Amino acid sequence: MSCPPAELKIKSDELRHKWEAYVASPGFEPFVEFAVCLSSFSDFLQGKGLSGLHQMSHSLEQQALSLFDEADRQQIPPATLDHLRSRIEGLGARVAGFIDSNSRPVADRRAHCETDISSDVVPTHRVWLIGNTADEWQPLMTQLAYFAIQAQVFPWHNVPAEIKEPAILLLDTQGMSLEEACEHIEALRARFSASKLILHKFQADFNNLKAALRAGCDYCFADATPEAVILTKIIELCSNEEEPPYRVLVVEDSLTASKSIQRTLKQNGIESFAVTQPHEVLTGLRSFQPDLILMDMYMPDCTGVEATRVIRQHAEFLSTPVIYLSGDGDVALQVDALRLGGEHFLTKPFNPVFLNAVVKSKIERYRALRRSMQHDSLTGLLNHGTSKERLAAAVNAASSSNGLLAVAMIDIDYFKTVNDIYGHPMGDQVIRSLAWLLKQRLRKTDLVGRYGGEEFLVILPGSNADQAFDVLDRIRRDFSLIQYAFKDTRFKATFSAGVSQFPATSCPEALIKDADEALYDAKHSGRNCVVTRG
Ligand code: GH3
Ligand code: MG
Ligand code: MG
Ligand code: MG
Repeated sequence: MSCPPAELKIKSDELRHKWEAYVASPGFEPFVEFAVCLSSFSDFLQGKGLSGLHQMSHSLEQQALSLFDEADRQQIPPATLDHLRSRIEGLGARVAGFIDSNSRPVADRRAHCETDISSDVVPTHRVWLIGNTADEWQPLMTQLAYFAIQAQVFPWHNVPAEIKEPAILLLDTQGMSLEEACEHIEALRARFSASKLILHKFQADFNNLKAALRAGCDYCFADATPEAVILTKIIELCSNEEEPPYRVLVVEDSLTASKSIQRTLKQNGIESFAVTQPHEVLTGLRSFQPDLILMDMYMPDCTGVEATRVIRQHAEFLSTPVIYLSGDGDVALQVDALRLGGEHFLTKPFNPVFLNAVVKSKIERYRALRRSMQHDSLTGLLNHGTSKERLAAAVNAASSSNGLLAVAMIDIDYFKTVNDIYGHPMGDQVIRSLAWLLKQRLRKTDLVGRYGGEEFLVILPGSNADQAFDVLDRIRRDFSLIQYAFKDTRFKATFSAGVSQFPATSCPEALIKDADEALYDAKHSGRNCVVTRG
């Protein structure tokens, strides 16, 4: 989670101002403005991973939405308004408390950070394990430490009041009744605005799950969930990457309508670009690269369906979702539109909260689909094909900016033996560990792909071979320290790597070939080492 307190304050102030504007002049328009702002605030909190604040804001949003009709008739009962006001103030106070505790100096907050396996890495995430059976946490703590995640154990009666919230609280409620467990969850939820609350060893039947989620917990792991699954979830939550803003292309002949749509999108943190002429749509798509198209149904000389038909002639836009904006219920056109893969209809004048919700949910689905096509399911890294495409793009970028680029091929040593002795699932776990470690240690601008079974391709834009060597050799050292638990024993694995560099080698294929040859040299000089070439 990374949310600059200043950004949160701006958003929160904006919400307060919208509420005050409604109170000063209680009409429908100001109420909608307030509801839109609240909806956007909820999305923002969710995007930043501020779980507790999001839950509060989301339930407030639900209440505001349910009051649309009354607001339209200017008949919200005074008692309901009072209730709404006190909840808004409650949310404001929680946000202010969170901002206050996160605005203190960093040194203050990092006082307790230490790690035994890699002194050059400051752990960026903390996990608290809360339960009365501290011994049971030990194996998980050891595993987390390998990924620079600092875990601390606390008994239920002694959860410290810390100024800096941990990323995750893993809760063991064994031995408690459901009511007791829910009381604990509610109390923690009220104290920790940003932390994810995860229940561990939970009797996860329908009613228990419903109660725990209602009390404010984010995830539940049933009793007997394998440690590897819990580890995967914790690492996934800790490596929560921030999504780039959603992008929408608005195709709409009425300038007034498109301005109003763009305004709503902007209020919800969605970037947009508008074209008013249907024939400009292809240029718009290519230059803006949107996640979704909002398409007016009626435009001069061209219906929205016709424009979509033209778009679908281009392979690169075959799956871009289209939502139609139509003025009335023209069934024939709507059926036609659906046949062409139209995703949804919104009738004008649109409800801004609904527009935002529909657009966001379609984009989420579209991005998830695109992700699953480009990423490997075992590790979440780029898959073979996408890794090669990204390498070609990175070489192009380096070439046009006269920049540097290093490429590394990594291969786990004696991996067949790992599979043979410990079994394929354990082998998968080793592959996943290396994937996590690479993702965690490399920069955001570096690219990591699963090139083959236990082979990885790493692209480091802006680095030369020596710099790449330094980084990869540290990762090699730390990877070789990770212990994997198997029955009553533990084992370790190592990898070898070969590095090539641009511009010494200038085309993507040759960079891979050079890195492969360097890897071959690494294998032949005893493995568990990094060799550079060029
Ligand atoms: P070397 O040190 O020379 O690399 O020896 P090695 O045993 O690692 O040899 P090699 O790289 O050729 O072995 C790759 C093995 O990886 C063969 C294959 O069974 C295994 N493998 C490939 N994909 C997967 C996977 O997804 N999961 C598991 N568990 N094993 C895999
Ligand atoms: Mg029109
Ligand atoms: Mg191999
Ligand atoms: Mg190998």
